Amino acid sequence: MIALGIDIGGTKIAGGIVDDNGSLLDVEYRATDASKGKDYVLEGIDELITELCSRCKPDAIGIGSAGRIDVDSGSVYYATSNLPNWTGLNLKRHIEDRHGIPTIVDNDVNTAGIGEMWLGAGKNEQSTVCVTLGTGIAAAVFVDGKIVRGGRWSAGEIGHMILYPGGRPCNCGQRGCFEQYGSGTALYRSYNERRGEEAIASGRQFFELLATGDIAARDTLDAFISDLAVAFISLANVYDPDLFIVGGGLIDTKEWWWERLERHIREQANPAVASMKLVPAAFKNQAGMLGAAKLGFEYVAELNASK
Ligand SMILES: [Zn+2]
Repeated sequence: MIALGIDIGGTKIAGGIVDDNGSLLDVEYRATDASKGKDYVLEGIDELITELCSRCKPDAIGIGSAGRIDVDSGSVYYATSNLPNWTGLNLKRHIEDRHGIPTIVDNDVNTAGIGEMWLGAGKNEQSTVCVTLGTGIAAAVFVDGKIVRGGRWSAGEIGHMILYPGGRPCNCGQRGCFEQYGSGTALYRSYNERRGEEAIASGRQFFELLATGDIAARDTLDAFISDLAVAFISLANVYDPDLFIVGGGLIDTKEWWWERLERHIREQANPAVASMKLVPAAFKNQAGMLGAAKLGFEYVAELNASK
């Protein structure tokens, strides 16, 4: 069997041809250009699928998209303005009408987690929390071999756990969310806050300063690690995972914080969860495509079983 795995990201749309052994046979990309609007993004997705379909005959299409996705209907339950007018869109219906191939849609962090569980760091595991630390923070949660999606398709939105009541405003409408303290974006904002000026504008600049021995950067990193530890310990007490699988853009800087995060957790967590393990994600950019394709295979099997 062959499935297309489509990963709709903020900057690019990735599409892969995947066989049911998990081999990625071919890959194609398009720029998302979300600022050009919903129709433009959809056109990019359609073009990408048409191109991939000219190279194979897929049995299914799996799609991972930003936003909270109603997996049953294939529509977007809620998405931020990063993908304009995405909320309410029935992506499954759109793709099936256009391409005539059974399609299933899930949240992009979930599809990446499914990819890691299928072929990556979570292979052979049953209970994991797959955390993405990037410009934002989210997780795919697996308990006893099943992904947890929740009543409003919002399970795993760990970036919006409140760490500091009344703290920094978040684009979700709350204040003091984890994402405002533990993400790559938060790192440089925290640094600027500490300095009392807009000194830097990216996570990359932050780590450059850190490498020069900048004291404010060092203090910012200390607070960042401490906040991450608090969040991971809380998650461990809620889900009791065998493993935390950690991916996302910040993983590229892990030599600065990984070991200290592990130490903080060992020192502060209760004995029941202090032995929890953290492992880096096995895939950088392919997990989303692979996981989306895996969902596609499962969906087709389900359709065939109900015939
Ligand atoms: Zn929030």
